[in-house]
Amino acid sequence: IHYVSLDRTPQLWEELEKDQITLREACGNTVRNVTGSPMAGVDPNEPFDVSPYAHATFEYFLRNPISQDMGRKFKMAFSSTDADDALTYMHDLGFIAKIKDGERGFKVMLGGGLGSQPLPAFVAYEFLPTNQILPFAEAVVRVFDRYGERAKRNKARLKFLVADLGFEAFMQWVNVERLATKHKIFEIEAPESSPVFLAGDWVKDQTIDDVKAFEIWKQTNVFAQKQTGFVAVGIRVPLGDFTTATARELAKVVDAFAADDIRLTLTQNIVLRFVKPDDLPALYNALKSIGLNAPGYESPVDITACPGTDTCNLGIASSTGLAVELERISGCMNACGQHNMADIGFQGMTVKAGVKIAPASQVLLGGRPLGDGQAVFSDK
Ligand code: SF4
Repeated sequence: IHYVSLDRTPQLWEELEKDQITLREACGNTVRNVTGSPMAGVDPNEPFDVSPYAHATFEYFLRNPISQDMGRKFKMAFSSTDADDALTYMHDLGFIAKIKDGERGFKVMLGGGLGSQPLPAFVAYEFLPTNQILPFAEAVVRVFDRYGERAKRNKARLKFLVADLGFEAFMQWVNVERLATKHKIFEIEAPESSPVFLAGDWVKDQTIDDVKAFEIWKQTNVFAQKQTGFVAVGIRVPLGDFTTATARELAKVVDAFAADDIRLTLTQNIVLRFVKPDDLPALYNALKSIGLNAPGYESPVDITACPGTDTCNLGIASSTGLAVELERISGCMNACGQHNMADIGFQGMTVKAGVKIAPASQVLLGGRPLGDGQAVFSDK
């Protein structure tokens, strides 16, 4: 949320807490918000729903004394399938759902990151049972807190500590630290997704004016769910920006057409789950009425950009201005727009011409995820 008036921040905090949304540890040198595959729970290819594990991880570290004052931030992600759409390879810790001999667990990726020096994550475990992921994550966070860089901020991420110590030595410290963790085993309750439907009062208009546009939207934005009788719908949100008025209308659309649950995606979009296929024409019309019916969800024309100089103090270039036509854009080397993992990425920088300094972009090509925790970073 941008342009919050400072004097009303406590009120905003209080209102959000009522709906179980917290501002705690969204920033600072803490374990940041835990992310996951947007289709988790409905993906036909997933071994199991990773959502409860991601949520348990968020709850475990929120307000946890061991992670309130680390050298730098710490990020975790959960991927539902080997497609690895939560991008585990570029996180401090990443988990990819696996089943082994009938048991649930995760492939665990450790020490990845983007920024000015992108480094791919190491495979910490090919398979770690679900009841060991939180004790392991706690041990990793403890090692990071104990030995991570604190003076030089640009060297303070976990990836640099793993590189300095070496992966094997780092894991030895993790094993030592596991002796001190509060839990040796931590069982996570993982019930199947059970959608809640609200009786919205949106008038369902099934008349399609532009059949071709509707068919294209269906091809690019509608996805089968593993639950028969339902589909998921991807909503393209240009640059992830929408207004309060649009959000209020979208909430009404969700009430009328989908489960009482939306997913905000890594690519700045929205996923609605548990939509009935018969409702698709009316849902398309409803989204069209609030300007959210663009086709091409997650396609090359679906641009991801950080806020850049619009609102970020560190920004060098206007990423959002560039994003009208390009693919992944970051306003500086910090790579919040994930430019160094895209087919075509742009990074804001400056160029000198005599005494003058002008904003410019560095162009990177050829980045892509390979799946199962592997990836190629792009080249300048
Ligand atoms: S990449 Fe973008 S959002 Fe991140 S620090 Fe740089 S300008 Fe700010």
